[in-house]
Amino acid sequence: MKHRLPQLPYEMDALAPHISEETLRYHHGKHHAGYVNKLNALIKDTEYEEMSLEQIIHQSDGAIFNNAAQTFNHNFYWKCLGPKKTDPSEPLLKALKETFGSMEAFKEAFSQKAIGHFGSGWIWLVIDEHEKLQIQATSNAHTPIEHHLTPLFVCDVWEHAYYIDYRNERAAYIETFWMLVNWEYVSQIFEGKEHLRLSTTLPLCNNPDDPMCEYLDDLSHQDMTSS
Ligand code: MN
Repeated sequence: MKHRLPQLPYEMDALAPHISEETLRYHHGKHHAGYVNKLNALIKDTEYEEMSLEQIIHQSDGAIFNNAAQTFNHNFYWKCLGPKKTDPSEPLLKALKETFGSMEAFKEAFSQKAIGHFGSGWIWLVIDEHEKLQIQATSNAHTPIEHHLTPLFVCDVWEHAYYIDYRNERAAYIETFWMLVNWEYVSQIFEGKEHLRLSTTLPLCNNPDDPMCEYLDDLSHQDMTSS
């Protein structure tokens, strides 16, 4: 099974001026694509070749883990953002208030965790093993799904996510991040209406002898390099 770079759920310039088209072209078309391509190269002819992304994350380590987890994390990150202003649903807002005191207090705690995180990583809102909301930071490629927690949304704090637009000012990127959160998507996961369908394999094309699969492979490769 080959893993695919998913298309962005919006246009490359849709998040500007907060996140520029140039950032999205590099972040999606170079960094994210790079993880997907490396993953495919690393798993070829190994026990991981037929596994889903989630299975690879749970069973691998080293470079295979890093590239699988980075693929997963980015697949999720893009879906957590959007150009449209949205708000958390009533049930999610209630849970955020119960856990953090207020929406403002939640944003402040999340922002502080993001600004204070040392080095590369990801800041998450998750549902933990006690069904409670929790802010978590993970370093490098690490991801809460390693521990079977449910991510609700994530902020990428690797420098490649903000360096073109904000240079070293991570705090400025975090501030802008709040204007882009797709609360509709986040609320749907919280309410169980949306599952984390983040595997990017296309099981229809498992058969290497099928010429249609070869054709689709070529098409997706063109998509990947032109974006
Ligand atoms: Mn990234």
